[in-house]
Order: sequence, then C-alpha cells, then structure tokens
Amino acid sequence: MKNTELSFEFFPPKTADGIANLRETRQKLSVFKPEFFSVTFGAGGSTRDRTMETVFEIQDEGYQAAPHISCISSSKAEISALLKAYQDKAIKRLVVLRGDVPSGEVSTGDFKYAVDLVSFIRQETGDWFHIEVAAYPEFHPEALSAAKDIDHFKRKVDAGANSAITQYFYNVDAYFQFLDSCYKAGIRTAIVPGIMPIYNYTQLARFSGICGAEIPRWLRLRLEAYGDDLASLRAFGTDVVSELCEKLLLAGVPSLHFYTLNQADIITKIINNVNASQG
Ligand code: FAD
Repeated sequence: MKNTELSFEFFPPKTADGIANLRETRQKLSVFKPEFFSVTFGAGGSTRDRTMETVFEIQDEGYQAAPHISCISSSKAEISALLKAYQDKAIKRLVVLRGDVPSGEVSTGDFKYAVDLVSFIRQETGDWFHIEVAAYPEFHPEALSAAKDIDHFKRKVDAGANSAITQYFYNVDAYFQFLDSCYKAGIRTAIVPGIMPIYNYTQLARFSGICGAEIPRWLRLRLEAYGDDLASLRAFGTDVVSELCEKLLLAGVPSLHFYTLNQADIITKIINNVNASQG
C-alpha cells in the first residue's frame, strides 16, 4: 500500500504446530514490510511466557516486535521485570492495555486502568518505549458515556501514550466521528484503525458482542445468509474489508493495523485488492 505503514497482530501459539504456522504466516506477511508485528498478552498474564518467547523470536528474525502488556492481575514488580527483559532485548514498542478481568478473579493487581500502567512505564523507563494504547470508535462496552470514554482515552495520551490502535469496526463513519471528537478534545496522536478480516461469522458475532464492535445490520444479514459456505462468506468478507481499507486510505490514514488471528491468506488478498484499486 502506497505511503501506508502496516502492522500485524498475532496471538502467542500454544503448540508446536501453532508455532510453525505462525512462522509461515509471518514469512508471508513480511513481504509487505510491516512497521511491526505485535503479540497479544492473555488475560491475567496467562500467556506471559509465550508472549515473550514469540516476541523474542520475531525480534531475532530482524523485525520490530511489539509485545502487548496488560495490567489486570499484574504487580508493579512483575511489570518492572517484564520491562527490563524487553529493554534487554532492545524491544522499543509496547501495546499497553488494561485487559479484561478473568472470570472468578477478584483482584485487579496494582493497576486499575491502562492509564495507570502507561504512567508507571514512563516513570520506570522514561522515553525508551513507543507506547500504543487502545481506542474505541464505537466506545468501550464499560464506558459510562461516549464523552467519558474519550476523556479516559485522552488521559492515556496525556500520561505518555505515543499513538493508539482502534478496536475493529465496519462502520467507517464511526471512526471518522471519533477522530473529530478526539481532535476537539485536544488529542493529537495518531489513531490507527484496527482491521478485522472476516474469517468466520459465528466467531465474529460472539467476539463483537463482547467487545462492543458493531456488525451493521446489512453486513450481519449478508454474512448469516452464507451459513456453512465458508468460502463464499470469506470471499464476500474480503471484498467488504478491502473496501473499508480503501475508504480509510482515501481519507488519508497513515497506517493500518491488522488483527491476523495468525493467518496470512485473507489479509494478503485484502492488501492486494487495495493495491490494485490504487493502480
Ligand atoms: P482502559 O483504557 O483502562 O479503559 C477500560 C474502561 O475503563 C473504559 O470503559 C474506560 O472508559 C474506563 N476508564 C478508564 N479510566 C477510568 C477511570 N479513571 N474511571 C472510570 N472509568 C475509567 N486484551 C488483552 O487481554 N490482551 C491483549 O493483548 C489485548 N490487546 C488489545 C489490542 C487492541 C488494539 C485493543 C483495541 C484491545 C486489546 N485488548 C487486549 C482488549 C482490552 O484489554 C479490553 O478492551 C479492555 O476491556 C480495555 O482495555 P483498555 O486498555 O482499553 O482499558
């Protein structure tokens, strides 16, 4: 994509097959010369070691790796140790999140909100890390109001976040409205759209229900109609997401962040479609 930085998000694989699959995915996606590959952090630190191993492997391959790091259930001492390990490995970028409280867990650890973790990282490591935080064009499901959510987002920026990646969305107007509101609130950092390719309707509907990302009615009805015909659903979904990316690029977004689910093929088609549309 011309003049557009790309980044790709992975989850840390659990099995030997998963690790091999992710290596292949990374190799396929590396042809797009991404700015970085990020690796998620399981709720409550459940993937701490696997996130670190995956990040180190990516870094050893010569790419920029960005570990996600979340506060829920973490102590200050654990976070300090993690930051030190990442600094020792010359990791320069973090995606800093609150995370979700695992069911049955009561304690939130030493940090309640992502802003607390951003402040702590700045206090501990100065300007070493480029800090990404999360933003929600359709608003976070726990937000008391749209205005409060934007205010909480601004606090993360004021605490030292350099840029943000959004929750995925299929309604491009929600993203542009959000950018306007953030600008009016005095936020000047880049707010990079998070792009979720359409792999599987049931999974997408379940996840969208939890994270508050809306599947517009027209899209939901079209996707539901494909039933078990996964190939047609994916072909249609690929067109929809390609058009979404084209609209975002036409509006001048400088970067796109893809949620890969550790798969390369659909994203490759989307990027090729967009490149073809740019001529
Ligand atoms: P926060 O910014 O802390 O906000 C959470 C909620 O609290 C919001 O509703 C906000 O309005 C509210 N809030 C904030 N501050 C205050 C305050 N002072 N008083 C009252 N309310 C407040 N989850 C993972 O577990 N691992 C991952 O790797 C991961 N990666 C992600 C990557 C991206 C790009 C995105 C968009 C999300 C990711 N998530 C991940 C999900 C994320 O952890 C959840 O959405 C979580 O519920 C909120 O995290 P946050 O960092 O946005 O939280």
